[in-house]
Amino acid sequence: MPNATSSGASEPIRILIVDDAEESRLLLQSILTGARYHGVQAVESARAAFKVLGMPRPAPNHPLPDLILLDHIMSDIDGVEACRKIKAVEALRDIPIIMVTVATGEKTLRQAFTAGVVDYIMKPIRKVEFLARVSAGLTLKRELEARKARERELVEVTQRLEAANKMLLSRSALDGLTVIPNRRRFDEVLEHEWKWAMRTGRTLSVVLIDVDDFKPYNDTYGHQAGDLCLKRVAGVLSQGIKRPGDLVARYGGEEFAVVLPGTEVKGAMEMAESFREQIEACAMPHARSRSSRVVTISAGVAASLPARGDKPAGLIEAADRALYRAKHEGRNRVKASGRD
Ligand code: GH3
Ligand code: MG
Ligand code: MG
Repeated sequence: MPNATSSGASEPIRILIVDDAEESRLLLQSILTGARYHGVQAVESARAAFKVLGMPRPAPNHPLPDLILLDHIMSDIDGVEACRKIKAVEALRDIPIIMVTVATGEKTLRQAFTAGVVDYIMKPIRKVEFLARVSAGLTLKRELEARKARERELVEVTQRLEAANKMLLSRSALDGLTVIPNRRRFDEVLEHEWKWAMRTGRTLSVVLIDVDDFKPYNDTYGHQAGDLCLKRVAGVLSQGIKRPGDLVARYGGEEFAVVLPGTEVKGAMEMAESFREQIEACAMPHARSRSSRVVTISAGVAASLPARGDKPAGLIEAADRALYRAKHEGRNRVKASGRD
C-alpha cells in the first residue's frame, strides 16, 4: 500500500486530476481515495487546472500539488500543450506530471515526454499499475525536493563560510585600535612591492614615523586620550597618501610605517614632511612635549632600488636609523637615510 502522506501523518499528499470526462475523474478519484490518498482534487479542464495552480505566477505560499494526472485529449487545451505551459512556470517545474491517455502512438508519446511528462498511464485504467505509477511519481518528487534542499543548504553554508573568511582576513589585516592596516599587512605589502621594484627597476621608499614624547602624553592625559590621539594620527596619515599603491600601517605602539612604491627619496621626504606638517596642524595639545606645545611626529625616510639578494629588512633598518637621527636632533622633523 502506498504511503499516503508526504511528511509524517499530518500533511496529505496533494494530487491534481485534470480530465474532461466526468466518469474518468470519478474513477481515478475513487481509486486514489481507496488507496488513502486524501488530498485529491479533480478539475474538468486545463484552464481550471491553471487556475488551481495559480498560473501564470503562483504566489510563494500558494498550495501546490505533489503530482498532476493529466488527461491527454481534452476539449479546451490538450494534455501535451497544458503540460508544456505548466512546465514553463519556474515554480511548477518540479511537479511530476503523468499523462493519462488512450493513444500510445510513438509520436504522441514523444511529444508528451518532450513536453515534460515523467510517465504515462494507459486507459482503460488498471488499478495496480495506476497506483504503482502514482507512487513512483511521488517518490521522484520527494527525491527532487530533498536534492534541492541539500543544494540550498550547501549554497547557504558556502556563503556563510565565504563571509566568515572575508571577515577573518580583513580582521587579521587591520589594526584593532586604528582600523588601518597592521604590521602583518605592512610586511606582506613591503615584500610584494620589493619584488615588484626589483622586476621593474623602480625605486621603493619607506617612511617610519614615531609620535614624539608619547609616553609623557599618556602620563599627562591618560591612556584613553592616548588611544584617541593614535586614532587621529592614523586617520591623518591614511588621508595623506595619494597613489593607489601607497600604504600606511600601524607598525606597533605609537609607530607608523608607510610604503611608497615608485618613489625616490626626494618625493618620500616631501610626503614625510607633509605628514609632519599635517599632524602639527591638528594642534592636539601636548603640555609635556620637549619639541612643541602640540603633538608632533618624527620621521625617518629610506629609499632603495633593490638588487637581487637584497632584503626589505635592510630598507627598514635604514629608515629606523634616519628616525633615530630625527629624534636625536630634536624631534618634530624628517630625516632621510644617507642625507644630512
Ligand atoms: P620619543 O619621542 O623618543 O618617541 O618618546 P616616546 O615617549 O614617544 O617613546 P617611548 O617609546 O618611551 O614611549 C612610547 C609610548 O607609547 C609608551 C607606550 O605606553 C605608548 N603606547 C604604545 N602603544 C600605545 C597604545 O596603543 N595606546 C596608548 N595610549 N599608548 C601607547
Ligand atoms: Mg616608539
Ligand atoms: Mg615615540
